[in-house]
Amino acid sequence: MPTDSDCRADAARERDALPLAALIAAVCAAVDTWEAEFTRLDQAIGDGDHGANLRRGARALRARAAELSGQAPGAALRECGMALVLSVGGASGPLYGGFLIGLGQGLEGGASVACGLEQGLAAVRRRGRSEAGDKTLLDVLVPVIARIGEGAGGAAVRRAADEGFAATRDLVAARGRAAYLGERSRGHCDPGAASARRFVHAVCDVMENIR
Ligand code: ADP
Ligand code: MG
Repeated sequence: MPTDSDCRADAARERDALPLAALIAAVCAAVDTWEAEFTRLDQAIGDGDHGANLRRGARALRARAAELSGQAPGAALRECGMALVLSVGGASGPLYGGFLIGLGQGLEGGASVACGLEQGLAAVRRRGRSEAGDKTLLDVLVPVIARIGEGAGGAAVRRAADEGFAATRDLVAARGRAAYLGERSRGHCDPGAASARRFVHAVCDVMENIR
C-alpha cells in the first residue's frame, strides 16, 4: 500500500514532468490547423467567431511561452488561463481560461494531474452554469477527464473526445448563443466541443511522445 507521502511524491513527479512548452505549442498549432472548422460550426449555431476568438488566445499564449517555461507547471497553467480570460472575447475565453486557472490552482495546491483536471472542470461548470448534455465543450471535457481519472490510455481518451463531440449533433443547446436557436440547434455539432476535441488530441499526441 502506498503511503500518503508516496502519493504526494508521485503527484509532484507527475506535475514536474508535464512538458508545458510542448503542450502550449501543440494546442496553439491545433488552433492554426482547425480554426476554419471552429468558424464554420459557430457560423451554423452561433455568431461565427469561435475560430477568431481562439486565434487571439493562441497569440496571447505564444507571446508568454518563453517567460512561462521557467515557472512551475501549476503557476504557468494559471497564468495561461488568465491570459485567455483577458485576450479571448466571447464565452469560450472565460471557460477555457477558467479551466486552466482551476487546473493550475489544483496543481499548486498539491493535487495530482487527474484531480487538478477535475478542479478545472468544476470551474467550467461554475462559470458556465452548465453540465454535460447542454451541447457545449463540457460534452467533450467531462467524458475525457473521467477516462483520464480511470487511468485510460491515449486511444480511449481520444475516442471519448470524438464520441463526445459527435454526440453534440443530436443535442438541443441549453447554454450559450446556440441556446437561442432551441430545436434548430439540433443537427449541428457544437463549436466549443469541436475545439475541445482537437485540443484533447493535441495533448494526447504530446503526452504519448514523451513516454
Ligand atoms: P461566443 O458564444 O461568446 O461567441 P465562442 O464562439 O468563442 O463564444 O464559443 C462558443 C462555445 O462556447 C460554444 O460552442 C460552447 O461550447 C461554449 N459555451 C458557451 N456558453 C457556454 C456555457 N454557459 N457553458 C459551457 N460552455 C459554453
Ligand atoms: Mg461565437
